Amino acid sequence: MEVLSLHLGVSHFATPPAATQALQAALSQPNQYGPTEGIAALREAIAQRYQEDEGISVTAEQILITHGTKHALHLYLSCLLTPGAEVIAPAPYWFAFPEIVRQAGGQLVSLPANPAKHYALDVQALRERITPQTRLLLLTNPGNPTGKVYSPEELHAVAQLLEEYPQLHVLSDEIYDGLVFPPAKMRSLLQFEPLRNRIAVVNGFSKSFAMANWRVGYLIAPAPLLQQATHLQHQLIGGVSPLNQLGAAAAMHNRHALWQSYRQDLLPKRQKVLEAIGQLPNLQANVPDAGYYVTLEIENCLQAANPRSPFQLVEEWAAALKDQQGLEVLPATNMGMPSTVRMSYALPAPELDEALSRLRAFVS
Ligand code: PMP
Repeated sequence: MEVLSLHLGVSHFATPPAATQALQAALSQPNQYGPTEGIAALREAIAQRYQEDEGISVTAEQILITHGTKHALHLYLSCLLTPGAEVIAPAPYWFAFPEIVRQAGGQLVSLPANPAKHYALDVQALRERITPQTRLLLLTNPGNPTGKVYSPEELHAVAQLLEEYPQLHVLSDEIYDGLVFPPAKMRSLLQFEPLRNRIAVVNGFSKSFAMANWRVGYLIAPAPLLQQATHLQHQLIGGVSPLNQLGAAAAMHNRHALWQSYRQDLLPKRQKVLEAIGQLPNLQANVPDAGYYVTLEIENCLQAANPRSPFQLVEEWAAALKDQQGLEVLPATNMGMPSTVRMSYALPAPELDEALSRLRAFVS
């Protein structure tokens, strides 16, 4: 039986043709290094996007093009954190965060969000976790794996915390921001212009542009941190391939058409997955506002809540699903939420149908 891979973080969408064409045209360029900070055409396209779509002013000079978003995170954290610094992140969070934070000398402090409250930001619990060592609040908006988009009220509460705690910085990872389903509406954390000396955003082309294999991301950060991050990138790797950046710039100019087509494909699939899950015993899922994952809460499939279950851990449940049905999903290892499973629905419709019938056979 062929294994269906719903654990992956890549979509089935083809590379944007505009990107491929721009790359092909660029291949005849002479042999040269590009600037460490990124080429002007891409930095300007990104700046233009914030201005046009959200009325937020970002200059090209405030943007560093990085080797993917993961690298943007790593550079930023390496420049901000000192040994022992604490980073608070609402859970469930992206599984790579604890290790990226640790490598930068920090320590991740989990702030579990309640699925029954649609993963709302618990500002009171957040305040209780702030200590003299706290340096950063790490948000993912829209969330991975939850697909949660923070409301204007939640973002204002974050801005208020920044005003209260002068040592605190906030980083918003907005890599899924092109895949938001109305009525949810995404606003970048960059909107709080007076607080931008402690606000940073990372983003990239792997998710909202289906360009995971191009390795292009970006960091928008306060000037001193951006300068340090640029310096570090210069010393370690140098700039991202200018050829790939030209492709990314072309995709960015084409964003509205791309995002509309992705959403049109994903919306009925989201509906189908949620309907299927709604009919299955012991599985719970919220409606994701964005992205292409459904977060299953499988507490009732585990022994602690259900003594008849053979599974103690979410990893065991996921392994049995793979062994018995050839369906691979992502257990919440390192996501700060023990009974969560992430399942992608960014795949062709026939595969998704097959995946759902395998899931049904497993839990029924
Ligand atoms: N942040 C989040 C929240 C992600 O889900 C991912 C990819 N899974 C990344 C960053 C890394 O993206 P990139 O491919 O641009 O390094």
